[in-house]
Amino acid sequence: MLLIHCPYCDQDLPELEFTYAGEAHLTRPSDPSLLTDEEWRDFLFIRKNPKGNHAERWRHTHGCARFFNAVRDTVSDRFIVTYKAGTSRPEGTE
Ligand SMILES: [Zn+2]
Repeated sequence: MLLIHCPYCDQDLPELEFTYAGEAHLTRPSDPSLLTDEEWRDFLFIRKNPKGNHAERWRHTHGCARFFNAVRDTVSDRFIVTYKAGTSRPEGTE
């Protein structure tokens, strides 16, 4: 069973307690009305799909219910690191 470390609960817990919540570190445009249709489409729908390390948002749905970030290797499905929301991606995890 895949275990995920919740940085708030500070425990390794079964994947079933968590929900994937998309790509991490996306910045919402300050004024979407200034964007072209293509720029707005890209913000809403275009996401990275790397082979290797990927920064993701996760939520500890059946625990503390908080969102956090993780870097996961999409090839091996191993979590490299998890860290609290609002903090920067750790160096060396690109
Ligand atoms: Zn938690």
